[in-house]
This record gives sequence, structure tokens and C-alpha cells, in this order.
Amino acid sequence: MKIEVLGCSGGVGQQEFTTCLKIGDQLLIDAGSGLGELTQEQMLAIEHVFLTHAHLDHICFLPLLLDNLFEQRKTPLQVYALPEVIEALQTHIFNWTIWPDFSCLPCQENPVLQFNPIEINQPISIGDALIMAIPARHVVPACGYVVEEKGSRFCFSGDTRLDEALINAYQQLGELDVLMLECAFPNRLSDIAHQSQHLTPTSLQTFISALDSPPKQLWITHLKPSVRDEVLSELMQLSLPASVHLLCSGDTFFLEHNRCSPKT
Ligand SMILES: [Zn+2]
Ligand SMILES: [Zn+2]
Repeated sequence: MKIEVLGCSGGVGQQEFTTCLKIGDQLLIDAGSGLGELTQEQMLAIEHVFLTHAHLDHICFLPLLLDNLFEQRKTPLQVYALPEVIEALQTHIFNWTIWPDFSCLPCQENPVLQFNPIEINQPISIGDALIMAIPARHVVPACGYVVEEKGSRFCFSGDTRLDEALINAYQQLGELDVLMLECAFPNRLSDIAHQSQHLTPTSLQTFISALDSPPKQLWITHLKPSVRDEVLSELMQLSLPASVHLLCSGDTFFLEHNRCSPKT
């Protein structure tokens, strides 16, 4: 499984792009500003976009992607999300005020965008990969995803806080090759993290320590640029039962069962 981290920041800035992961040539998870790093040809090759939730940092480049592809696509771009997320996008983005409703353009019969409602724990087959939504706990309806391909399993938490139900859901998954977890705020801002339903280094440690089978690798994502150094120094003081990698926008990995190597 080839995973390209087009964006993984909790904000924007020079070389900082918001969440967008490309898996293989055809599949994206989230459509944050990292999507804008693709060439036109790469954008045209995307067939499936899975969204974790409707917050702007995770969807902001989807409307622009559709506008780019409008004339060239022969079949609709398939966008998958929880029903509440689709409703939010239809009501607040593709509403002819903020952006045209591409699910009926250029014509109702063959639009450039097709929404597909998904359910938690229902796997969807995309080529050689199986992708399944898993629970997340956020201020809006949200999910994470597990992607399984040729025996290797990659999991992305999406934006989430920690609670018992979340730990129980991850216990059901068993050992993962890679778990990509957000860690938006430092411990000092745990009140804000609680209100906005994000993780801190302390809650991340609690989460990983509670798992009977911790992941082989932990990838950390979604640090807010203004507190990045503070979060980083707190993360470095943790003792975690997994090898830890702080993701950077532009990272590329090849994941095989029991092996994950960065692209050199
Ligand atoms: Zn969010
Ligand atoms: Zn976010």
C-alpha cells in the first residue's frame, strides 16, 4: 500500500497543508489543502474520496477539485461520507451560494460528483483495498478509516477525543500495522482540546496504553502550527509501546505486512 501524506497539519502556512492522504493513485482520505499539491493529471486519476467529517480543514479543496475536473471527467467522482456529513456539504457548501451543486452538473444524468452514504463498520471494496469507517468522537458527526490491502492494515483516527467507547472500538480492530492519530493541542490547552474534541499528548498516551494490542507504528498528525514545538516536546517525553513518527506534509510510505518503509 502506497500512502502519500499530501497534508497532515492542523493549520496552514509555508509547507503546512491540512489533511489529505492519497492511497495508491485513485483514493483520497479527506480533501484538505494538501490536495492542491497534486498535478492536474494526478487529480484526474482520483476516483474515490472518503471524508472523515465536514470541518473545513478536511474538505476545503473538494469544491475546487470538482471545478478543475468539471470538463474532463467522464464519470462522477465518488465521494463517501456519513449521511450527516453529506447533508452538511449539500446544505452549506454545494448550495449555489458558496459553490455550485456539482452533484447535478453538467447534467442530472451524468454529474461530476456522486455522494455515497457510508455506515460505521461496513467495509467497501475499492480495487485491491478494503476501506471501512470506524467511530470517532468529535463536535460534529465524524469517523476514522481502516484501509486493508494485501494483509497490511492502516488506520486513520480522523479528528477525535478519547472515551471508553472509542477505546472499545479500537480494541475490536486488533493489532494495526500503522495507526495515524491526531494530536492537535499541548497538555496546557487540555480545556480547549476537550471543548473542540481533539487529543493531547496525555490523552494520546492514555489511548495507546489502553489497547491490548498497540499498533506497530504510530503516526502523529494534525498539530496546530502555533503550538507545534510544544506538542512535539511533550510527545518526545512519552513512553509509548509503538514506534512513533511525526508526519510531515509530503511524506510517502510503502506499507507491506510487518514492514513500513519511507520512500527514499
Ligand atoms: Zn474537526
Ligand atoms: Zn481537523
